[in-house]
Amino acid sequence: MAERVLITGAAGFLGSHLCDKFIAEGYEVIALDNLSTGSLDNIQHLFGHPRFRFLHHDVTNFVHVSGPLDYILHFASPASPADYLRMPIHTLKVGSLGTLHLLGLARAKSARILVASTSEVYGDPKEHPQSEDYWGHVNPIGPRGVYDEAKRFLEAMTMAYHRVHGVQTRIARIFNTYGPRMRIDDGRAIPTFLCQALRGEDLTVYGSGQQTRSFCYISDMVEGIYKLLMSDYPEPVNIGNPEEMTIQQLAEYIIRLTGSRSKIRYHPLPEDDPQCRQPDISLARQVLQWEPRVSLHDGLMHTIEYFRQALQSSGETIHSGQPFHTP
Ligand code: UDP
Repeated sequence: MAERVLITGAAGFLGSHLCDKFIAEGYEVIALDNLSTGSLDNIQHLFGHPRFRFLHHDVTNFVHVSGPLDYILHFASPASPADYLRMPIHTLKVGSLGTLHLLGLARAKSARILVASTSEVYGDPKEHPQSEDYWGHVNPIGPRGVYDEAKRFLEAMTMAYHRVHGVQTRIARIFNTYGPRMRIDDGRAIPTFLCQALRGEDLTVYGSGQQTRSFCYISDMVEGIYKLLMSDYPEPVNIGNPEEMTIQQLAEYIIRLTGSRSKIRYHPLPEDDPQCRQPDISLARQVLQWEPRVSLHDGLMHTIEYFRQALQSSGETIHSGQPFHTP
């Protein structure tokens, strides 16, 4: 009998790639999503698979799954700043009530649970790079507070279930991740810049563009999450790519890689936008023997191809030139 895994947020960007991973590894996958930011297009290819089942459900309501469960991956939540600014209360509810429901389910089923936390728990960090023992610098009442505090609550609740009820818990602090299946209108930097470059529109850099991020390709992220789930480490682990760059550099690189004639246009910096972000992944290297393998060049080339096709199949004309194949 295949082991059974429940994945929440399964129709989203990370969730759908996790579904693929667990199907490929021979698990029975129960995929759950309320489709508020995810799309069935991301998991359509799995429908009809004998080990795959989809449940349309919102985890802020009580979650019932019949039969045994071996693993739970809690990935339900809006994750793009644009999405959680649009759905602030729902973001708070999914990180708090949703997490509570999934931890209760893990306890009832004696399942191991991995919850998706975030680099946002570090807020606008005063330590650089960020390691797991840094407590963060978060504005609880700012626009990003709804996501940051929901995820900090998720971590606190998860550790409480571990300490009080002995639930087997894993906490992934996920840093910026990109790749195929992000939405065209997702609002995050990489999908936004790629679509703008492919459409021949100006790239919308916020602020001076000197703020930094470190971007991890989806296949590396999935591997890191899988290794963390299979490890015996119950406390938070950073998963991300430590290669740091400014948003200005990212925008220029995307214009080059797409062969686009787009220019950069500067817009006001959103409130509480972190000035820098770079994961210290020493812990992941040590306890998971994991580190990212895919270069930004290769990851972006795959992602450009995905968005080129996504835009074309929604009837758009691609304005960029031929992509460059060298970094
Ligand atoms: N950003 C930008 N233009 C955009 C979207 C994002 O300059 O169209 C900036 C944003 O202000 C932030 C960085 O890119 O400094 C990363 O933003 P994203 O929304 O991808 O994720 P975050 O790391 O802020 O959660």
